Amino acid sequence: MIPYGRQDISESDIEAVVSVLRSDFLTQGPAVPAFERSVAEYCSAKHALAVNSATSALHIACLALGVGPGDIVWTTPITFVASANCARYCGAEVDFVDINPRTYNMDVDCLASKLAEAARVGKLPKVVIPVHLCGQPCDMAAIHALGQQYGFGIIEDASHAIGGRYLGEPVGNCRYSDITVFSFHPVKIVTTAEGGMAVTNDADLAAKMALYRSHGITRDEAQMTHAADGPWYYQQIELGFNYRMTDLQAALGVSQMHRLDEFVAARHALARRYDRLLADLPVTLPYQLPDTYSGLHLYVIRLQLNALKHTHREVFDALRARGIGVNLHYIPVHTQPYYRKLGFRGDEFPQAQQYYAEAISLPMYSGLDFSNQDRVIDALAEMLR
Ligand SMILES: *Cc1c(COP(=O)(O)O)cnc(C)c1O
Repeated sequence: MIPYGRQDISESDIEAVVSVLRSDFLTQGPAVPAFERSVAEYCSAKHALAVNSATSALHIACLALGVGPGDIVWTTPITFVASANCARYCGAEVDFVDINPRTYNMDVDCLASKLAEAARVGKLPKVVIPVHLCGQPCDMAAIHALGQQYGFGIIEDASHAIGGRYLGEPVGNCRYSDITVFSFHPVKIVTTAEGGMAVTNDADLAAKMALYRSHGITRDEAQMTHAADGPWYYQQIELGFNYRMTDLQAALGVSQMHRLDEFVAARHALARRYDRLLADLPVTLPYQLPDTYSGLHLYVIRLQLNALKHTHREVFDALRARGIGVNLHYIPVHTQPYYRKLGFRGDEFPQAQQYYAEAISLPMYSGLDFSNQDRVIDALAEMLR
């Protein structure tokens, strides 16, 4: 089976992990801060906090921004469930903003009109979480301007987008957001097996996230209620979690970061080939917002169903039967049984619904060679012509 995504591990990645195994620290050693510096420098962000998943990073980002019971958080319905669940962990309500039919990201016009209505009825969101779907940056300048106007915080879910650029600057520099979150799951662009990171330019948010990452415990006397009892002393000043990344993972991350630009370039070479070789088929190819560079975690096509004699499901099944691990990113989050129990009907966001009826993620990862990519293209062409 050609998967839709997979990790790209080199001998130096393996050596980096093995050298941690031979060292004094398997966790809470020097590799974690080294990985944090590497990502912060790459993104031009001031602070970076490595955690054990992007899900954890989203959770502590929401907590640091003060999300709690009585608050509302908005995100897009076309995302992984974690982008919405983080608000539920904090006891907040979740609502969604429909997607743009070309970028598949949160639609800024829908956001603006939903905000105007929310302001009228006094139900404005505390935080909005735009997701850079497939690696395509959202229109962050516009979302940021709305944030200023309506007073909400912004967490960028950039799980798909490390290595991408928006208006000439790296995704993660937080110019238009409070916090940006990355995922290092093996299908993502760089991996630490499991892992995530939250980056920010705000020292106060960084300090809060550091507390939530590790039990709410501080060893900084300035944060304590009284002077330390002795050199052993720490205080728990918040209710936090154990969301720490290990040094094994961080060493893999440092090593992978050396190849980030190479990984993204390889993804772009594959995307250009898909663009060219699928151009004559009855499918809608990915659109790229001007002045952005995608991290290209995913390459999603949409079937032009009225031009086809097969259904979406039939195309899917036929490709899978031929050993092509196509996938669907994502099932609209508000249609999940958990969210339906919270009151969503499933038909609230028509663009998301239509996207779900047509989308297919094709294999896209740096180790995919052109001959295997040709198998994908040939199978699609056979099915769709
Ligand atoms: C993968 C992903 C997450 C969760 O990442 P983990 O590191 O697996 O917790 C969150 N949001 C989006 C958009 C993702 O793709």
